[in-house]
Amino acid sequence: MPELPDVEGFRRYFKRHAEGRRIESIRADKDIVRNSTPQKLRKALPGGRFASPDRHGKWLICPADSQSLLLHFGMTGSLVWSRNGSQQHAHDRLSIHFDDGVLRYRDMRKLGGAWLVERGGEDTIIGRLGPDAWAVSKEDFTQLLQNHRRSIKPALMDQEVIAGLGNLTVDETLFHARLNPKRSIASFTAKETGTIYRKMRHVLRASIGEGLVPAKRSWITAQRRRDGVCPRCGHDLDRGVVGGRTTYWCPWCQPADGD
Ligand SMILES: [Zn+2]
Repeated sequence: MPELPDVEGFRRYFKRHAEGRRIESIRADKDIVRNSTPQKLRKALPGGRFASPDRHGKWLICPADSQSLLLHFGMTGSLVWSRNGSQQHAHDRLSIHFDDGVLRYRDMRKLGGAWLVERGGEDTIIGRLGPDAWAVSKEDFTQLLQNHRRSIKPALMDQEVIAGLGNLTVDETLFHARLNPKRSIASFTAKETGTIYRKMRHVLRASIGEGLVPAKRSWITAQRRRDGVCPRCGHDLDRGVVGGRTTYWCPWCQPADGD
């Protein structure tokens, strides 16, 4: 499932292939354009040129003249560049044609989508999001968490609190911070909150470089299976559902409240 590092990878890919290029034509499946129609998309974008794309959390924002195309990658979305004449894949939902190739939005499960808005009106679609996890300052991050009394994992996963983190980045951040995902935010010291921020930056930096959360030997992502062990101490990992998502942690390195 695409998280901030994956979508940042898509942003760079989009920029490389589409920025400054004249849009020749566009084709979209009916059900992938969420707030408009393929016909309106076909009328609005061709003839224009894409400016530099932006990203907020898991959203890709692609301005083109007076319009913005917003893309969300759901569970299985991605971008694929192909040369003219190459065959369309069964899961290509939206194709943007340029003079020498096609940029395709591919999404098997169709939980993502495309939105068309007037430039400057992006907030009508994504306005409820919290600050971007890669852009947020330590001060703002600390303040965001101060307003919550729930467990740390669901708070970090909540896009309205902080945008961009997902199941892998949150489990990895808490593993590196040696903090239990079920712990209440109210139980954290200022030092622990600072550690979460620092480790989140570390995990995002390493992941953005790869365009995904890497299965490094020293990371918990590589151990996300039933018989996974802690890469730090070798203890069997615990697995459970926290905040509605399958979560892994080391019961020894990341003790629960009161342990
Ligand atoms: Zn451990």
